[in-house]
Amino acid sequence: MTAPADGRSSGAGPVAPDGRPSGTEPVAPDGSRPSAAAPVAPDSRSSSGAEATAAPRPATAAQAGGPSSHGSGSSFHEMWRDLAPLGRDARSGGYRRYAWTAADADCRAWFRTQAEARGLTCEVDRNGNQWAWLGDPLAGDAVVTGSHLDSVPDGGAFDGPLGVVSSFAALDELRRRGAEFVKPLAVTNFGDEEGARFGLACAGSRLAAGQLSRERAHRLRDGDGTSLPQAMAAAGHDPDAIGPDPERLARIGAFVELHVEQGRALDLSGDPVGIASAIWPHGRWRFDFGGEANHAGTTRLADRRDPMLTYAETVLAARREAELAGALATFGKITVEPNGVNAIPSLVRGWLDSRAADQATLDTVVAGIERAARDHAQRAGIDLDVVRESFTPVVEFAHTLRDEIAETLARRPSRDTGRAVPVLSTGAGHDAGILSASVPTAMLFVRNPTGISHSPAEYAAEDDCVAGVIALADVLEGLACR
Ligand SMILES: [Zn+2]
Repeated sequence: MTAPADGRSSGAGPVAPDGRPSGTEPVAPDGSRPSAAAPVAPDSRSSSGAEATAAPRPATAAQAGGPSSHGSGSSFHEMWRDLAPLGRDARSGGYRRYAWTAADADCRAWFRTQAEARGLTCEVDRNGNQWAWLGDPLAGDAVVTGSHLDSVPDGGAFDGPLGVVSSFAALDELRRRGAEFVKPLAVTNFGDEEGARFGLACAGSRLAAGQLSRERAHRLRDGDGTSLPQAMAAAGHDPDAIGPDPERLARIGAFVELHVEQGRALDLSGDPVGIASAIWPHGRWRFDFGGEANHAGTTRLADRRDPMLTYAETVLAARREAELAGALATFGKITVEPNGVNAIPSLVRGWLDSRAADQATLDTVVAGIERAARDHAQRAGIDLDVVRESFTPVVEFAHTLRDEIAETLARRPSRDTGRAVPVLSTGAGHDAGILSASVPTAMLFVRNPTGISHSPAEYAAEDDCVAGVIALADVLEGLACR
């Protein structure tokens, strides 16, 4: 989801066809790029029973040396390469993996292939989220890890997929270590996290957690007028099945989501991996500025009721209020009617995204922006409607789980910097934030050297991705293994 605008550079460099900045193309940890797209070999591990014992994978040539003296670089690289072309726009280099589209289906097929290649039991829950199980899904106290595969319009390669790929790679790493699982483990792909198509973020996890009703979900429509139920049905999913899934969530003992950082805190601290402390409260508000359509060439300035001017004043006010409060406020989407070059608009509809470290600050910022908009609207004879479309309160991740993870990562041999793993808050929402109301939840972040996200220039170095895999494996081993 949207990251804080924390002063990161917006001047993205040239982007390679796979979405990485050119000139920094990562290669396999052993310095090679495997030429054959060989899937991970299935083996004879049990996929049922809470106590699924994993045999270590035999090391391959590609697993020798490099940052994957841990062995995780190779499987990570193979998965990354297979996933990279799916849903990528050739012209922008960005991803268009919207919920319930063909690109989404391709990503889901990729997930199923990875699950089956590892002997995991793959299922789709009533809300369209994918689960790949090692061990008995019904046994309870499961350790679940994963993220999402969908994207914002022209999104980057890492937001979401890094967590899913790292989850499978962490499982590979644990098997390589010969870890003995005493709890069921699942890798997940939550559906429609970005809300790029139907406008509501984290739809899959919100439905499961009972934070989005079936009735409201059924009313959601995309930009073409297709309803969510129509889109689901066209993709082969029963839209009448969606709704709260408390029994499923009750069987989860801990959920850990690894995600690329959407800011520069780790880059500034010099750490490849961090732990999340909290997600800022955030929401989306729609501002409808109504004026009067008229001829751009014949209407005197004094006679106009131009909502674009009031919208522009409101954008400036949003920036000012956010700066004063140390918060974030962004108008990033706008529609204009009639949207003609030579027409004064009759309607300007702008969407405000605002986030702050605490609720009181966020309330102050949004109230200040709305007050400024109403003042300007009144003076200019513009009608104004403000509607809050979505809101997520502050998420404090479970302290016990967070402390346990911090301890696990601090105890392990010095694989990264040898320093304690930093704990940081974020302005971006995630499925982990939604689930935290129902399940003990934690997040790991992987360094993003530019902080750029939701852009084809989004990037993480492969060494850091592998460090993330190792950290996640350590965490999962602590939670799920003997
Ligand atoms: Zn994400």
